[in-house]
Amino acid sequence: MLLLDGKIASQAVKQHIKEKVEALTASGKRRPHLAAILVGDNGASETYVASKIKTCAEIGFESTLVRLESTAGEAELLERIAELNNNSTVDGILVQLPLPKQINEQKVIEAIDPAKDVDGFHPVSVGKLVQGLKTFIPATPYGIMLMLEHFNIDTKGKNAVVVGRSNIVGRPMSILLSSNSKYGNCTVTICHSHTKNLAEVCQSADILVAALGRPEFVKADMVKEGAIIIDVGITRVDDATAKKGFRIKGDVAFAEVAEKASAITPVPGGVGLMTIAGLLQNTLQAYEARNGQ
Ligand code: NDP
Repeated sequence: MLLLDGKIASQAVKQHIKEKVEALTASGKRRPHLAAILVGDNGASETYVASKIKTCAEIGFESTLVRLESTAGEAELLERIAELNNNSTVDGILVQLPLPKQINEQKVIEAIDPAKDVDGFHPVSVGKLVQGLKTFIPATPYGIMLMLEHFNIDTKGKNAVVVGRSNIVGRPMSILLSSNSKYGNCTVTICHSHTKNLAEVCQSADILVAALGRPEFVKADMVKEGAIIIDVGITRVDDATAKKGFRIKGDVAFAEVAEKASAITPVPGGVGLMTIAGLLQNTLQAYEARNGQ
């Protein structure tokens, strides 16, 4: 069984980007610049944004963190986005989701300049993705594709099953796996909460992507012998014995599924790390496009 270790794969992507940044600065050019907006103080969002900012520093990107109170209104957030859109030194903008109830998420996504849409959620980015054009691919599915590439996982002609159809993970993942590209060309089934005989559908998967947000939902009896398992789930499960009072669980019952799988991602240490790698790769792409490279 091959452990699809996100530490190893993300390190390789980060090293590659770091070397590009070093070459840019050595030739007197400015560094790529990512701006993140965090609204409120959701614990998980704080952690995600902090690790994105920290990784920017590691690879030599400039970063800016804009913090707004949880009571901030939609107009205030849209104003901050407009400022970043107009700031020529900012290459990529991300607004950490979820947003407080008073703010319309779709309006916020659509307010970001598509040229700086490094999360790849803007309808312009999604439309290009569907048409197979060069675009910003949402960071998590992009990270998974980078992982498949790193471990040279052959996907051509395989049956892929994606459980979950969200705009940020499941849906774009299904598009990428079915795309006519080196790590695409799968026959893809996408599942959701209305799917009948889900276990049976999962058993048909050569590649199973679990992105439903239900801890340890995928059990060994739902998995084909030799399948490749990509666990996207991240859920904080209360645990009094853990230092922080919770443990992070994936959507796959790792120990039992690993015995049947030919390759599997761990949680933590798998897709989450690749998501950051995807975001950084998108930021570099934005920088290069904006600087005519
Ligand atoms: P959403 O809640 O937006 O979507 C969940 C999807 O799973 C929906 O399509 C839903 O179906 C489907 N679903 C839920 N329950 C079932 C079920 N019992 N059977 C079949 N389908 C089901 O979640 P996200 O896509 O945003 O995230 C999914 C998971 O991935 C979460 O744990 C999240 O924390 C994690 N995540 C991890 C990231 C990483 O970097 N590793 C990044 C982003 C997310 P329906 O549409 O019918 O409601």
